[in-house]
Amino acid sequence: MGDSVAIMKLEEELTRRLAKLREQGLYRTLREIGSAQGPRLTLGNRTVLNFGSNDYLGLAGDPRVKEAAAEAARHWGAGSGASRLVCGNLEPHVRLERALAEFKQTEAALTFSSGYTTAVGTLCALAGKDDIVILDKRAHACLVDGARLSGARLRVFAHNDLEDLEHILKWAADVRARRVQAGTAPPVILIVTESVFSMDGDTAPLRKIAGLKDAYDAWLLVDEAHATGLLGPAGAGLAAELDAHARIEVLMGTLGKALGSAGGFICGSRTLIDYLVNRARSFIFSTAPVPAAAAAAAAALELVRGPEGEELRLRLKQRVSQFQAALGRPNLEIPTAIVPLVLGPAEEAMRAAAELLEAGIYVPAIRYPAVARGAARLRITLSAAHSAEDVGQLAAAIRGLQLQPAGDGS
Ligand SMILES: *Cc1c(COP(=O)(O)O)cnc(C)c1O
Repeated sequence: MGDSVAIMKLEEELTRRLAKLREQGLYRTLREIGSAQGPRLTLGNRTVLNFGSNDYLGLAGDPRVKEAAAEAARHWGAGSGASRLVCGNLEPHVRLERALAEFKQTEAALTFSSGYTTAVGTLCALAGKDDIVILDKRAHACLVDGARLSGARLRVFAHNDLEDLEHILKWAADVRARRVQAGTAPPVILIVTESVFSMDGDTAPLRKIAGLKDAYDAWLLVDEAHATGLLGPAGAGLAAELDAHARIEVLMGTLGKALGSAGGFICGSRTLIDYLVNRARSFIFSTAPVPAAAAAAAAALELVRGPEGEELRLRLKQRVSQFQAALGRPNLEIPTAIVPLVLGPAEEAMRAAAELLEAGIYVPAIRYPAVARGAARLRITLSAAHSAEDVGQLAAAIRGLQLQPAGDGS
């Protein structure tokens, strides 16, 4: 081994890579938050307004949700001890899944430790190397990673562009026809999109996508991470709002956003869920979620579905329209809690975020690879827990920045 010229030392190599990220304005660091999740954060010795959380209804800090977590920890223990298929399938998991299925009006539901592992496990179970996965250009990283890891042929359609999607579906149908002709197994064609897009706050035309899905005999997976608890009757999501949920084979959601806990889930037919129990590797080979997380999510879900959920959604809607009006923007047809301010270059977004922080307001700057290069932005998220004064303060601070918004980066 004496000839070591070509050997890269880990420290040197990683230092070089990090320096490159710094040069590009893409270097990231963690900041320690000294308070619980809520409309205010403690950063070092300062308290600042928080417009970066996905805790859209303020349920992460709700006393009943917290108590449900505490009670579950006392009764069921801190950890689940094993994977669900071994001996970790506890009553809180089963109860939560029953409630989720009822909530989404499907036969069954399955929870995972995170939304990320939900996407990866489900996509890899449904699609393989002979199949085709078609993704919206702005789909979340976990959907992209799941699609890649599945080994399926990947196609990306322009964001919310039905013509482009149909164009790709035609190609996929050709591939299928040729396979059938050759006497080989036809590929699965799986369309994957979000219902509310995490970095833009806009919504997918789910009814039209479902129409194309039917026309081309494809399957459809919709990630409702940012719609669950917020849109639709009783907060069931955008698919329910658009009356498209019965046409979507695979409904995905997360428990860590409006539901204030942690985890991810799939709702669908009993057969789909039985299949995932058998084939989703991120479900099978992972310790069951902690009982506290499942119990907290179940308690939050109960609130979300009840009259209080209705009130929280209404309050959030008022905050969002107050903020849009203050920015001089029209209200979206389907308003969501995510309001992006696209600034373009990463440095611009970083500078604006730093300036807001000076003014006592935390808003995250989002850069590549979370969004496209040149589409860096402030990603403002509002919560029902914000007061009208909080939102007024944010709007005033943003006006004070004198920003020159870029296009939407598409
Ligand atoms: C946050 C998010 C996920 C991942 O969920 P986690 O529970 O945080 O892992 C998946 N999809 C979308 C669209 C998200 O925004």
